[in-house]
Amino acid sequence: AVDGGEKGLNAYIHVSGEEALATAAEVDAIRSAGGAEAEALHPLAGVPIAVKDLIVTTGQPTTAGSKMLEGWMSPYDATVVEKIRTAKLPILGKTNLDEFAMGSSTEHSAYGVTRNPWNIERIPGGSGGGSAAAVAAFEAPLALGTDTGGSIRQPGAVTGTVGTKPTYGSVSRYGAIAMASSLDQIGPVARTTEDAALLHELIAGHDPKDSTSLPDEVPAFGEASRNQSVEGLRIGVIRQLQGEGYQSGVLARFQESLDALKAAGAEIVEVDCTSFEYALGAYYLIMPSEASSNLARFDGVRYGTRVTPEEGPLTIERVMGATRAAGFGEEVKRRIILGTYALSAGYYDAYYGSAQKVRTLIQRDFDAAFETADVLISPTSPVVAFPLGEKLDDPLAMYLNDVATIPANLAGIPGISVPGGLAADESGAELPVGIQFLAPAREDARVYQAAGALE
Ligand code: GLN
Repeated sequence: AVDGGEKGLNAYIHVSGEEALATAAEVDAIRSAGGAEAEALHPLAGVPIAVKDLIVTTGQPTTAGSKMLEGWMSPYDATVVEKIRTAKLPILGKTNLDEFAMGSSTEHSAYGVTRNPWNIERIPGGSGGGSAAAVAAFEAPLALGTDTGGSIRQPGAVTGTVGTKPTYGSVSRYGAIAMASSLDQIGPVARTTEDAALLHELIAGHDPKDSTSLPDEVPAFGEASRNQSVEGLRIGVIRQLQGEGYQSGVLARFQESLDALKAAGAEIVEVDCTSFEYALGAYYLIMPSEASSNLARFDGVRYGTRVTPEEGPLTIERVMGATRAAGFGEEVKRRIILGTYALSAGYYDAYYGSAQKVRTLIQRDFDAAFETADVLISPTSPVVAFPLGEKLDDPLAMYLNDVATIPANLAGIPGISVPGGLAADESGAELPVGIQFLAPAREDARVYQAAGALE
């Protein structure tokens, strides 16, 4: 009764057979020949990878989960794709997502829903549900995701996989279709922290094609992930990210993780981030505002789909209107309307301006918290994977899934979600719980070190 490929999971929008096989054969040939070329192969050479369909690729279509880009082929590769091609990771295909990465369940895709491999009646998280489901279902050992408000970490949490949102600016955004440019970041999805760290190390680094790219050297994340000692590490529990709205099973697993970290020698402290109360509100103003501006490029002229009105004069405005009416889904339209409203003259200070002030307060909360703690910890998602359809008609309920992940995007700091066991929800279904670690900007290595201790 389940539609879609891969036994109904529908993690992929596009599967690339030939390209992946050719790359794998090439790596095989180099390895068998031995010598300097084999020695020089990247440690991940030959390891297959799936790419979220928000990241552009030559030779494989990119849809962003939207009808707007149906059949569109990018004329260039994203910088991260260039890097994985140079390192010879076979690209298995493009994974499903909420349209233009807007959502927390992958139900807002124009190419069908993705199902959670743990229970196919449940959501795989979003927007990167396809990447997470592919890795969880052993359809790919590695995947790339993007995280604007949690789209790598929350799908990671509900599918029992590992996902990292790197420090803002540390991985090039060139070729990631922009959602909210001041929040977006590409990152790794994997089954272990070490795999995630190795992929992170490969894709990070300065890129002159991204004006917000940091000039930093790439730290040895792989090595950090192998140093799983938390002896003496101060781990701060964020008081505001637990309690109301969090399922009891999620909180029980969270407490067990704290106990395990303490037993491993970590010092558990409590920190307050009082302005987090306003994080969700600020995010759902800033994100739609930036998205409404970014999505203006889909005008029926420059990219993909064009719909011409059946009657009346053929003006640019009418073509644009007909194209957007047909090409964008409901959630995308909702956010464009929210964003253009928040940015309109007269409302700008009240909405966008206030949201930016909240953003500063959240940054200050993090600065203060990182004076008493080396890393911070919280559940990644307040709930385990919920039933398909449950929150589809209730945008606010859907947005509430992001409470714990959004602050890191607003502050630009790194975060990881790692599996923290299974918990039952109200219906008794046992599903994965994710534990989130956060570190100061540019200290991504710390999240691998701390998260590794839970494996
Ligand atoms: N769920 C969040 C949203 O809908 C996050 C999306 C993302 O990180 N791309 O905006």
